[in-house]
Amino acid sequence: KIYNELQDLKGSIRVYCRIRPFRPWENQKQTIVDSIGEHGELIVANPTKPNDAHKSFKFNKVYGPMATQGEVFADTQPLIRTILDGYNVCIFAYGQTGSGKTYTMSGPDNSSKEDWGVNYRALDDLFQISEDRKSFFSYEIGVQMIEIYNEQIRDLLSSDGLTKKYPFRIYCFHNLHTLGILATPQAHGLAVPEASMHPVRSTEDVIKLMDIGLSNRSVSATAMNERSSRSHSVVTIHVQGTDLKSGASSHGSLHLVDLAGSERIDKSEATGDRLKEAQHINKSLSALGDVIFSLSQKNPHVPYRNSKLTQVLQASLGGRAKTLMFVQVNPDVSSYTESLSTLKFAERVS
Ligand code: ADP
Ligand code: MG
Repeated sequence: KIYNELQDLKGSIRVYCRIRPFRPWENQKQTIVDSIGEHGELIVANPTKPNDAHKSFKFNKVYGPMATQGEVFADTQPLIRTILDGYNVCIFAYGQTGSGKTYTMSGPDNSSKEDWGVNYRALDDLFQISEDRKSFFSYEIGVQMIEIYNEQIRDLLSSDGLTKKYPFRIYCFHNLHTLGILATPQAHGLAVPEASMHPVRSTEDVIKLMDIGLSNRSVSATAMNERSSRSHSVVTIHVQGTDLKSGASSHGSLHLVDLAGSERIDKSEATGDRLKEAQHINKSLSALGDVIFSLSQKNPHVPYRNSKLTQVLQASLGGRAKTLMFVQVNPDVSSYTESLSTLKFAERVS
């Protein structure tokens, strides 16, 4: 039945828009959401400018502020499960800082199971399936976690990940056995073969790993405040499946990408490091937009080489790979201009 649901994946790029709710302390705020249709229609308007035209958009799905993590995952799960059949899947969260990218991909800080985002739910689901199928298949699951900041790649799970830049050596965590795919990383299209790969056997393993990765991100945040919103984080889940009867094996991967904030930095105000960061972010997000746009247009030339982000994800964008973009929107009128540019970015690639 998964496969029926996948029929509408033919174009292989889908876009889900998610509007986050107002936070409890954000009372008295005005929303830009005029209406949400049942088939992915979204109409936004600026409540402080009632005479301005409403703007309408169409996506594969639109989630309003009341949508739960579980509802969002239910629509994502069929896509994620295709990695068990050897597909490469890429899921992005795009939007300005504070629009809910991390919430969708990971959940809030210290979340309970109910609040888990796509990453923990995906792994939990994969472990469940591998348990169900254990008399016929054996699955090995491994996780990598990197950050791309100012066009440099950093391994968030390596012991010396804080200082080491690409390329780094493979570092094995907790003496867990390494996955078979490490022997021939290129053949498996590993995005960053040098990044440490950590075999995981349970959701608890994953939570521990992600905690380490997240703390490696935030350690640097003290040095350069809120750095996490100015870097892309990429969690990659590799699954190697072996058919116990025939011995045939398959390899699929899932990239979960929490992108840097898409907000435009005022060029006249930003200087030094801040300006450099802004330029790198603009460059990589527009390179991503260009790649997804060319893929959606079925252009023979896809400009992967214009940024580290698109190079890293090359094997997982295009071809048989499937792409899903969460377009995250802050509903507040003060973000109206940013939200419109986010929606327009998404409209171009959908
Ligand atoms: P981003 O990663 O895009 O900067 P966050 O995911 O950190 O944004 O979200 C900003 C704030 O809004 C956080 O406090 C987060 O917990 C909250 N938030 C975002 N989306 C939701 C949601 N769907 N439901 C409840 N709270 C949310
Ligand atoms: Mg975030």
